[in-house]
Amino acid sequence: MSIERHVVEVEGRSIGGGRFAVIAGPCTVESREGLLEAAECVREAGAGFLRGGAFKPRTSPYSFQGLGESGLRLLAEAREHTGLPVVTEVMDVRDVEAVAEVANVVQVGARNMQNYALLAELGRTPRPVLLKRGFSATIDELLMAAEYVLKEGNQDVVLCERGIRTFETAYRFTLDLMAIPVLKERTPLPVIVDPSHAAGRRELVEPMSLAAAAAGADGVIVEVHPDPDNAICDGRQQLSCREFAGYLRRLEAVALPNEAATAL
Ligand code: PEP
Ligand code: MN
Repeated sequence: MSIERHVVEVEGRSIGGGRFAVIAGPCTVESREGLLEAAECVREAGAGFLRGGAFKPRTSPYSFQGLGESGLRLLAEAREHTGLPVVTEVMDVRDVEAVAEVANVVQVGARNMQNYALLAELGRTPRPVLLKRGFSATIDELLMAAEYVLKEGNQDVVLCERGIRTFETAYRFTLDLMAIPVLKERTPLPVIVDPSHAAGRRELVEPMSLAAAAAGADGVIVEVHPDPDNAICDGRQQLSCREFAGYLRRLEAVALPNEAATAL
């Protein structure tokens, strides 16, 4: 028996319920020009949401940590220019108010999936939450993390499979595509996939996106940069603005018939 799907509505757009959402943009907000260029290019190609981190969870404390509040202001400007709702990450309870003021969807990154104080705070915040699976987290743990948000009253949670750590070293993480149908058996929440952070290199982003769409994902969150080779972070995995439009056409060829079938 299939469960009734929860649809997350964001500024007149939907995530879940048979619609395929495309969230695209740079890994991190680097500069005004770069962000506006990326935002314009993903909007023109047909993405529904703009992503970009102002607060970045970096493995090394010596790496670029994001532009912080000035990055948030640039994201607000990019939304004004393009009309695209903004998806951006919050890492710290103390930043929830500032991030929620700008973000249309607040992202919780893989490294914070079990930051229960942060999740509970977001449960009391009137913004949809994009919750990424921790790379060592089981499906049960992801679902329980989502409960921390739901329990406080916020029902708008989108789950995101972004690759888990296995013995395999040929790519950055192992994209657990089986999580898509299994999560959808277990919860009415929308389930999207991040092929960029799973793959670690752009050649793998398209095949994994097509596979995610075929497996029933409700969307993707994908990194796109005007000049990936000179990106501050994750350059190797970001699609260029030039290749994004073709990528999206080919992805829609798989995703849109799924949308139509769900509507039947
Ligand atoms: C991101 O989406 O910017 C990110 C850091 O991803 P993850 O938390 O999945 O590593
Ligand atoms: Mn990234």
